[in-house]
Amino acid sequence: MFLYKHPDFDNHEQVTFFCDEKTGLRAIVALHTTAPMGLAGGGCRFYPYRDDAEALRDVLRLSRAMSYKLALCDMPAGGAKSVVIGDPAKDKTEPLLRALGRCVEQLGGRYVIAEDVGTTPEDMRVIAKETRYVVGRSTDTGPPTAYGVFVGLRTAVREATGNSNLTGLTVAVQGLGNVGRRLCRHLVHAGADLIVTDVNQAAIEALFTDLKNSEGPQVERRVKVVTPDALYDQNAFVYAPCALGAVLNDLTIPRLTCKVIAGAANNQLAEERHADELYRRGIVYAPDFIVNSGGVIGASHELHEVVGTGGVPTPEQEAQSFRDTEKIAGLLEQAFDLARGQGISPHVAGVTMAKNKIRERRSMTG
Ligand code: NAD
Repeated sequence: MFLYKHPDFDNHEQVTFFCDEKTGLRAIVALHTTAPMGLAGGGCRFYPYRDDAEALRDVLRLSRAMSYKLALCDMPAGGAKSVVIGDPAKDKTEPLLRALGRCVEQLGGRYVIAEDVGTTPEDMRVIAKETRYVVGRSTDTGPPTAYGVFVGLRTAVREATGNSNLTGLTVAVQGLGNVGRRLCRHLVHAGADLIVTDVNQAAIEALFTDLKNSEGPQVERRVKVVTPDALYDQNAFVYAPCALGAVLNDLTIPRLTCKVIAGAANNQLAEERHADELYRRGIVYAPDFIVNSGGVIGASHELHEVVGTGGVPTPEQEAQSFRDTEKIAGLLEQAFDLARGQGISPHVAGVTMAKNKIRERRSMTG
Protein backbone atom coordinates (compact mmCIF):
# COMPACT_ATOMS: atom_id res chain seq x y z
CA MET A 1 0.00 0.00 0.00
CA PHE A 2 1.31 3.44 -0.89
CA LEU A 3 1.29 6.18 1.72
CA TYR A 4 2.78 9.34 0.26
CA LYS A 5 0.32 9.26 -2.66
CA HIS A 6 -2.67 8.35 -0.51
CA PRO A 7 -5.51 10.86 -1.15
CA ASP A 8 -5.77 11.56 2.59
CA PHE A 9 -2.03 11.93 3.17
CA ASP A 10 -1.49 15.59 4.06
CA ASN A 11 2.24 15.72 4.79
CA HIS A 12 1.68 13.81 8.01
CA GLU A 13 4.91 13.93 9.99
CA GLN A 14 4.83 10.30 11.05
CA VAL A 15 2.66 7.24 10.54
CA THR A 16 3.59 4.15 12.53
CA PHE A 17 2.14 0.65 12.20
CA PHE A 18 2.26 -1.48 15.35
CA CYS A 19 1.72 -5.20 15.73
CA ASP A 20 1.88 -7.29 18.89
CA GLU A 21 1.46 -10.96 18.06
CA LYS A 22 0.98 -12.08 21.65
CA THR A 23 -2.05 -9.88 22.36
CA GLY A 24 -3.37 -9.56 18.78
CA LEU A 25 -2.83 -5.79 18.78
CA ARG A 26 -2.80 -4.14 15.36
CA ALA A 27 -2.72 -0.37 15.60
CA ILE A 28 -1.80 2.61 13.46
CA VAL A 29 -0.69 5.90 14.98
CA ALA A 30 -0.69 8.99 12.74
CA LEU A 31 0.97 12.23 13.84
CA HIS A 32 -0.26 14.97 11.53
CA THR A 33 1.85 17.70 13.08
CA THR A 34 3.82 17.94 16.31
CA ALA A 35 4.06 21.75 16.17
CA PRO A 36 4.35 23.84 18.26
CA MET A 37 5.99 21.80 21.07
CA GLY A 38 7.20 18.58 19.44
CA LEU A 39 4.23 16.47 20.39
CA ALA A 40 0.75 15.66 19.15
CA GLY A 41 -2.44 14.55 20.87
CA GLY A 42 -5.55 12.68 19.81
CA GLY A 43 -7.92 9.90 20.73
CA CYS A 44 -7.70 6.18 20.11
CA ARG A 45 -10.49 4.67 18.02
CA PHE A 46 -11.06 0.93 18.57
CA TYR A 47 -13.16 -0.26 15.66
CA PRO A 48 -13.75 -3.42 13.57
CA TYR A 49 -12.42 -1.94 10.32
CA ARG A 50 -13.09 -4.04 7.21
CA ASP A 51 -9.41 -3.93 6.25
CA ASP A 52 -6.13 -2.05 6.73
CA ALA A 53 -7.00 0.43 3.97
CA GLU A 54 -10.14 1.57 5.78
CA ALA A 55 -8.20 1.92 9.05
CA LEU A 56 -5.43 3.91 7.36
CA ARG A 57 -7.87 6.28 5.69
CA ASP A 58 -9.63 6.88 9.01
CA VAL A 59 -6.45 7.54 10.99
CA LEU A 60 -5.12 9.97 8.36
CA ARG A 61 -8.36 11.96 8.20
CA LEU A 62 -8.98 11.92 11.95
CA SER A 63 -5.45 13.07 12.80
CA ARG A 64 -5.66 15.96 10.34
CA ALA A 65 -8.99 17.04 11.87
CA MET A 66 -7.34 16.90 15.32
CA SER A 67 -4.63 19.23 14.05
CA TYR A 68 -7.26 21.70 12.89
CA LYS A 69 -9.04 21.49 16.23
CA LEU A 70 -5.99 21.82 18.48
CA ALA A 71 -4.51 24.66 16.43
CA LEU A 72 -7.76 26.68 16.38
CA CYS A 73 -8.17 26.17 20.13
CA ASP A 74 -4.54 27.22 20.83
CA MET A 75 -3.70 23.97 22.58
CA PRO A 76 -0.05 23.18 23.35
CA ALA A 77 -0.01 20.14 21.00
CA GLY A 78 -0.44 19.27 17.35
CA GLY A 79 -2.94 16.72 16.08
CA ALA A 80 -2.68 12.93 16.02
CA LYS A 81 -4.92 9.91 16.23
CA SER A 82 -4.56 6.18 16.72
CA VAL A 83 -6.76 3.36 15.49
CA VAL A 84 -6.88 -0.20 16.79
CA ILE A 85 -8.28 -2.74 14.35
CA GLY A 86 -10.73 -4.96 16.24
CA ASP A 87 -14.08 -5.26 17.93
CA PRO A 88 -13.89 -3.54 21.32
CA ALA A 89 -16.62 -5.83 22.69
CA LYS A 90 -14.53 -8.97 21.95
CA ASP A 91 -10.92 -7.95 21.42
CA LYS A 92 -10.28 -5.27 24.05
CA THR A 93 -8.32 -6.95 26.83
CA GLU A 94 -6.02 -5.58 29.52
CA PRO A 95 -2.89 -7.19 27.93
CA LEU A 96 -3.79 -5.65 24.55
CA LEU A 97 -4.34 -2.20 26.05
CA ARG A 98 -1.06 -2.46 27.93
CA ALA A 99 0.69 -3.44 24.68
CA LEU A 100 -0.84 -0.32 23.15
CA GLY A 101 0.47 1.70 26.09
CA ARG A 102 3.99 0.37 25.36
CA CYS A 103 3.61 1.49 21.72
CA VAL A 104 2.71 4.99 22.92
CA GLU A 105 5.71 4.91 25.26
CA GLN A 106 7.98 3.87 22.36
CA LEU A 107 7.03 7.10 20.60
CA GLY A 108 8.85 8.84 23.44
CA GLY A 109 6.28 11.55 24.21
CA ARG A 110 5.64 12.56 20.61
CA TYR A 111 2.12 11.11 20.91
CA VAL A 112 -0.34 11.71 23.77
CA ILE A 113 -3.22 9.22 23.63
CA ALA A 114 -6.84 9.86 24.75
CA GLU A 115 -10.23 8.15 24.48
CA ASP A 116 -12.40 8.04 21.37
CA VAL A 117 -15.08 5.76 19.94
CA GLY A 118 -14.52 2.27 21.37
CA THR A 119 -12.26 3.38 24.24
CA THR A 120 -13.10 4.73 27.70
CA PRO A 121 -11.51 6.62 30.61
CA GLU A 122 -11.04 3.21 32.28
CA ASP A 123 -9.04 2.01 29.22
CA MET A 124 -6.90 5.14 29.54
CA ARG A 125 -6.14 4.22 33.16
CA VAL A 126 -4.97 0.75 31.96
CA ILE A 127 -2.81 2.29 29.20
CA ALA A 128 -1.36 4.67 31.82
CA LYS A 129 0.21 1.66 33.56
CA GLU A 130 2.70 1.59 30.65
CA THR A 131 3.07 5.25 29.71
CA ARG A 132 2.52 8.68 31.19
CA TYR A 133 1.51 10.17 27.83
CA VAL A 134 -2.22 9.77 28.42
CA VAL A 135 -5.05 12.30 28.67
CA GLY A 136 -8.63 11.44 29.60
CA ARG A 137 -7.98 9.43 32.73
CA SER A 138 -9.92 11.85 34.92
CA THR A 139 -11.98 13.97 32.50
CA ASP A 140 -15.12 12.56 30.95
CA THR A 141 -15.03 14.48 27.65
CA GLY A 142 -18.70 13.69 26.89
CA PRO A 143 -20.17 16.60 28.95
CA PRO A 144 -17.91 19.40 27.61
CA THR A 145 -18.24 18.06 24.06
CA ALA A 146 -22.03 18.01 24.32
CA TYR A 147 -22.12 21.51 25.77
CA GLY A 148 -19.75 22.73 23.03
CA VAL A 149 -21.99 21.19 20.36
CA PHE A 150 -24.97 22.93 21.93
CA VAL A 151 -23.11 26.27 21.85
CA GLY A 152 -22.05 25.64 18.22
CA LEU A 153 -25.52 24.55 17.15
CA ARG A 154 -27.07 27.75 18.56
CA THR A 155 -24.42 29.84 16.77
CA ALA A 156 -25.19 28.08 13.48
CA VAL A 157 -28.93 28.65 14.00
CA ARG A 158 -28.21 32.35 14.48
CA GLU A 159 -26.28 32.35 11.19
CA ALA A 160 -29.32 30.84 9.46
CA THR A 161 -32.13 32.80 11.13
CA GLY A 162 -30.62 35.91 12.71
CA ASN A 163 -31.24 34.72 16.27
CA SER A 164 -30.23 31.74 18.37
CA ASN A 165 -33.60 31.04 19.98
CA LEU A 166 -34.32 27.31 19.77
CA THR A 167 -37.86 27.40 21.14
CA GLY A 168 -40.15 25.49 18.82
CA LEU A 169 -37.35 24.44 16.44
CA THR A 170 -36.99 20.75 15.69
CA VAL A 171 -33.55 19.15 15.93
CA ALA A 172 -32.86 15.67 14.52
CA VAL A 173 -30.19 13.97 16.64
CA GLN A 174 -28.43 10.93 15.17
CA GLY A 175 -26.67 8.86 17.85
CA LEU A 176 -27.57 9.02 21.53
CA GLY A 177 -24.29 8.01 23.14
CA ASN A 178 -22.10 9.97 25.51
CA VAL A 179 -22.45 13.18 23.54
CA GLY A 180 -25.81 12.85 21.75
CA ARG A 181 -27.77 12.00 24.89
CA ARG A 182 -26.37 15.02 26.76
CA LEU A 183 -26.88 17.29 23.76
CA CYS A 184 -30.57 16.29 23.75
CA ARG A 185 -30.86 17.41 27.37
CA HIS A 186 -29.46 20.88 26.55
CA LEU A 187 -31.71 21.16 23.51
CA VAL A 188 -34.93 20.20 25.27
CA HIS A 189 -34.08 22.54 28.12
CA ALA A 190 -33.65 25.36 25.58
CA GLY A 191 -37.13 24.69 24.16
CA ALA A 192 -36.32 22.58 21.08
CA ASP A 193 -38.35 19.54 19.98
CA LEU A 194 -36.43 16.41 19.05
CA ILE A 195 -36.42 13.66 16.46
CA VAL A 196 -33.94 11.02 17.57
CA THR A 197 -32.45 7.76 16.43
CA ASP A 198 -29.90 5.18 17.48
CA VAL A 199 -29.04 1.67 16.35
CA ASN A 200 -28.98 0.65 19.99
CA GLN A 201 -32.37 0.45 21.76
CA ALA A 202 -30.69 0.79 25.17
CA ALA A 203 -29.36 4.22 24.17
CA ILE A 204 -32.90 5.36 23.28
CA GLU A 205 -34.23 4.13 26.60
CA ALA A 206 -31.38 5.84 28.48
CA LEU A 207 -32.29 9.12 26.75
CA PHE A 208 -35.92 8.93 27.87
CA THR A 209 -34.90 8.09 31.45
CA ASP A 210 -32.52 11.02 31.43
CA LEU A 211 -34.99 13.48 29.96
CA LYS A 212 -37.83 12.46 32.25
CA ASN A 213 -35.57 12.91 35.26
CA SER A 214 -34.49 16.38 34.21
CA GLU A 215 -37.65 17.74 32.50
CA GLY A 216 -40.55 15.67 33.88
CA PRO A 217 -42.76 12.98 32.23
CA GLN A 218 -44.51 15.37 29.81
CA VAL A 219 -41.20 15.65 27.87
CA GLU A 220 -42.15 12.47 25.96
CA ARG A 221 -44.50 14.51 23.78
CA ARG A 222 -41.58 16.56 22.48
CA VAL A 223 -39.43 13.62 21.38
CA LYS A 224 -40.13 11.45 18.33
CA VAL A 225 -38.09 8.29 17.69
CA VAL A 226 -37.42 7.15 14.12
CA THR A 227 -35.39 4.35 12.54
CA PRO A 228 -31.75 5.16 11.71
CA ASP A 229 -32.31 5.38 7.96
CA ALA A 230 -35.51 7.45 8.23
CA LEU A 231 -33.66 10.25 10.04
CA TYR A 232 -32.45 11.77 6.75
CA ASP A 233 -36.05 12.28 5.54
CA GLN A 234 -37.34 14.12 8.59
CA ASN A 235 -38.67 17.63 8.51
CA ALA A 236 -36.25 19.10 11.05
CA PHE A 237 -34.67 22.56 11.06
CA VAL A 238 -31.35 21.25 12.40
CA TYR A 239 -29.61 17.93 11.83
CA ALA A 240 -27.07 17.00 14.52
CA PRO A 241 -24.88 14.02 13.50
CA CYS A 242 -23.57 12.48 16.74
CA ALA A 243 -22.80 8.90 15.67
CA LEU A 244 -20.09 8.12 13.12
CA GLY A 245 -18.52 9.99 10.18
CA ALA A 246 -19.19 10.22 6.40
CA VAL A 247 -22.94 10.74 6.95
CA LEU A 248 -22.98 13.71 4.52
CA ASN A 249 -22.56 12.03 1.16
CA ASP A 250 -24.06 11.69 -2.33
CA LEU A 251 -26.88 9.48 -1.07
CA THR A 252 -27.91 11.43 2.05
CA ILE A 253 -27.55 15.10 1.02
CA PRO A 254 -30.38 15.03 -1.57
CA ARG A 255 -32.70 13.70 1.15
CA LEU A 256 -32.03 16.50 3.65
CA THR A 257 -34.52 19.36 4.12
CA CYS A 258 -32.82 20.90 7.18
CA LYS A 259 -31.38 24.43 7.15
CA VAL A 260 -28.54 23.80 9.63
CA ILE A 261 -26.13 20.93 10.31
CA ALA A 262 -24.15 20.97 13.56
CA GLY A 263 -23.10 17.87 15.46
CA ALA A 264 -20.39 15.99 17.31
CA ALA A 265 -19.33 13.29 14.84
CA ASN A 266 -15.84 13.58 13.39
CA ASN A 267 -15.42 13.79 9.59
CA GLN A 268 -19.11 14.16 8.82
CA LEU A 269 -18.35 14.98 5.16
CA ALA A 270 -17.65 11.84 3.12
CA GLU A 271 -15.47 14.03 0.89
CA GLU A 272 -14.49 17.70 1.00
CA ARG A 273 -16.64 18.45 -2.09
CA HIS A 274 -19.76 17.67 -0.06
CA ALA A 275 -19.25 20.96 1.84
CA ASP A 276 -19.74 22.82 -1.45
CA GLU A 277 -22.83 20.78 -2.20
CA LEU A 278 -24.39 21.78 1.15
CA TYR A 279 -23.43 25.40 0.50
CA ARG A 280 -25.12 25.31 -2.91
CA ARG A 281 -28.26 24.00 -1.28
CA GLY A 282 -28.28 26.86 1.26
CA ILE A 283 -27.67 24.61 4.27
CA VAL A 284 -25.50 26.16 7.00
CA TYR A 285 -22.96 23.43 7.78
CA ALA A 286 -20.94 24.20 10.91
CA PRO A 287 -17.47 22.59 10.53
CA ASP A 288 -17.34 19.51 12.76
CA PHE A 289 -13.76 20.13 13.88
CA ILE A 290 -14.90 23.41 15.49
CA VAL A 291 -18.29 22.28 16.79
CA ASN A 292 -16.92 19.18 18.54
CA SER A 293 -13.81 20.73 20.08
CA GLY A 294 -15.43 20.91 23.55
CA GLY A 295 -13.73 17.62 24.47
CA VAL A 296 -10.20 18.90 23.89
CA ILE A 297 -11.02 22.25 25.50
CA GLY A 298 -12.64 20.52 28.48
CA ALA A 299 -9.63 18.24 28.97
CA SER A 300 -7.06 20.99 28.36
CA HIS A 301 -6.00 21.11 32.04
CA GLU A 302 -5.01 17.41 31.75
CA LEU A 303 -3.14 18.06 28.49
CA HIS A 304 -1.22 20.94 30.08
CA GLU A 305 -0.29 18.65 32.97
CA VAL A 306 1.06 15.88 30.65
CA VAL A 307 2.84 18.32 28.33
CA GLY A 308 4.45 20.09 31.27
CA THR A 309 2.86 23.50 30.68
CA GLY A 310 0.70 23.25 33.82
CA GLY A 311 0.67 21.51 37.19
CA VAL A 312 -1.88 19.13 38.68
CA PRO A 313 -5.21 20.87 37.91
CA THR A 314 -7.34 22.31 40.69
CA PRO A 315 -11.14 21.87 40.67
CA GLU A 316 -11.39 25.57 39.70
CA GLN A 317 -9.18 24.99 36.64
CA GLU A 318 -11.30 21.99 35.64
CA ALA A 319 -14.46 24.09 35.91
CA GLN A 320 -12.81 26.86 33.90
CA SER A 321 -11.86 24.37 31.13
CA PHE A 322 -15.53 23.42 30.90
CA ARG A 323 -16.64 27.07 30.64
CA ASP A 324 -13.95 27.70 28.01
CA THR A 325 -15.95 25.54 25.58
CA GLU A 326 -18.01 28.68 24.95
CA LYS A 327 -15.19 29.98 22.78
CA ILE A 328 -16.55 27.63 20.10
CA ALA A 329 -19.15 30.35 19.39
CA GLY A 330 -16.42 32.91 18.57
CA LEU A 331 -14.49 30.49 16.33
CA LEU A 332 -17.63 29.59 14.40
CA GLU A 333 -18.57 33.26 13.97
CA GLN A 334 -15.11 33.88 12.48
CA ALA A 335 -15.63 31.00 10.03
CA PHE A 336 -19.11 32.22 9.08
CA ASP A 337 -17.83 35.80 8.59
CA LEU A 338 -14.96 34.60 6.38
CA ALA A 339 -17.34 32.38 4.40
CA ARG A 340 -19.82 35.22 3.83
CA GLY A 341 -17.03 37.65 2.90
CA GLN A 342 -15.42 35.32 0.37
CA GLY A 343 -18.44 33.45 -0.94
CA ILE A 344 -17.07 30.09 0.24
CA SER A 345 -18.56 27.38 2.44
CA PRO A 346 -18.05 27.66 6.22
CA HIS A 347 -16.15 24.35 6.05
CA VAL A 348 -13.62 25.73 3.56
CA ALA A 349 -13.40 28.89 5.69
CA GLY A 350 -12.72 26.84 8.83
CA VAL A 351 -10.06 24.77 7.05
CA THR A 352 -8.39 27.98 5.82
CA MET A 353 -8.35 29.39 9.36
CA ALA A 354 -6.90 26.14 10.72
CA LYS A 355 -4.23 25.79 8.02
CA ASN A 356 -3.08 29.37 8.61
CA LYS A 357 -2.78 28.64 12.32
CA ILE A 358 -0.87 25.39 11.71
CA ARG A 359 1.52 27.17 9.34
CA GLU A 360 2.13 29.81 12.01
CA ARG A 361 2.78 27.16 14.67
CA ARG A 362 5.12 25.21 12.35
CA SER A 363 7.13 28.35 11.63
CA MET A 364 7.49 28.92 15.39
CA THR A 365 9.25 25.54 15.72
CA GLY A 366 11.52 26.25 12.76
P1 NAD B 1 -20.68 6.92 21.63
O1 NAD B 1 -20.04 5.70 21.07
O2 NAD B 1 -20.89 7.05 23.10
O3 NAD B 1 -22.12 7.15 20.93
C1 NAD B 1 -22.37 6.95 19.59
C2 NAD B 1 -23.82 6.50 19.48
O4 NAD B 1 -24.16 6.41 18.08
C3 NAD B 1 -24.06 5.11 20.06
O5 NAD B 1 -25.16 5.13 20.94
C4 NAD B 1 -24.33 4.23 18.83
O6 NAD B 1 -25.21 3.16 19.10
C5 NAD B 1 -24.92 5.23 17.88
N1 NAD B 1 -24.84 4.87 16.46
C6 NAD B 1 -23.85 4.21 15.81
N2 NAD B 1 -24.15 4.08 14.50
C7 NAD B 1 -25.36 4.69 14.33
C8 NAD B 1 -26.20 4.90 13.20
N3 NAD B 1 -25.87 4.46 11.98
N4 NAD B 1 -27.36 5.56 13.38
C9 NAD B 1 -27.72 6.00 14.61
N5 NAD B 1 -26.96 5.83 15.70
C10 NAD B 1 -25.80 5.18 15.57
O7 NAD B 1 -19.80 8.14 21.06
P2 NAD B 1 -19.79 9.63 21.61
O8 NAD B 1 -18.69 9.79 22.59
O9 NAD B 1 -21.17 10.04 21.95
O10 NAD B 1 -19.31 10.41 20.30
C11 NAD B 1 -20.20 10.60 19.21
C12 NAD B 1 -19.43 11.13 18.02
O11 NAD B 1 -18.80 12.36 18.39
C13 NAD B 1 -18.30 10.24 17.51
O12 NAD B 1 -18.21 10.36 16.12
C14 NAD B 1 -17.05 10.82 18.16
O13 NAD B 1 -15.89 10.58 17.39
C15 NAD B 1 -17.40 12.29 18.15
N6 NAD B 1 -16.70 13.03 19.19
C16 NAD B 1 -16.80 12.67 20.48
C17 NAD B 1 -16.11 13.38 21.44
C18 NAD B 1 -16.20 13.01 22.91
O14 NAD B 1 -15.66 13.74 23.70
N7 NAD B 1 -16.86 11.93 23.29
C19 NAD B 1 -15.33 14.48 21.09
C20 NAD B 1 -15.27 14.86 19.74
C21 NAD B 1 -15.96 14.11 18.80
